[in-house]
Amino acid sequence: MEKYKDIGLKLTPQRLAILGYLEGNKEHPSAEDIYKAVSKKFPTMSFATVYNTLETLRERGEVLELTIDPNKKRFDPNTKFHHHLICLKCKKIIDIHSDYNLDISKSDRAGFEIVGNHIEFYGICQKCKKAHGS
Ligand code: ZN
Ligand code: MN
Repeated sequence: MEKYKDIGLKLTPQRLAILGYLEGNKEHPSAEDIYKAVSKKFPTMSFATVYNTLETLRERGEVLELTIDPNKKRFDPNTKFHHHLICLKCKKIIDIHSDYNLDISKSDRAGFEIVGNHIEFYGICQKCKKAHGS
């Protein structure tokens, strides 16, 4: 929580609740998910507050916005380089912290100095596989 003071984010109780919900959260929630969870404690909180707080955090590099779920943006408070697995059925997103040694040829690199990558693996999770009896 301390670090948010440094980025100049005014810490209202509502924003603190949003930050608290995100801290260590590995579910990659959407803005709607966050709103649902946090408005239980703060019934007067508006969706706009959640949305605007997420925008501010994203601009300051405190959360990542993931676009792997085509239906809605998902947010990741873990801003360290990592990869993702996504279930095509239930849209669950799981972190992968392995390093893949991807070699990118000089011509593909187009003069870029490569500093990172993000791999999205798609599949069907165990739970969904079971539910569909395959
Ligand atoms: Zn699934
Ligand atoms: Mn993640």
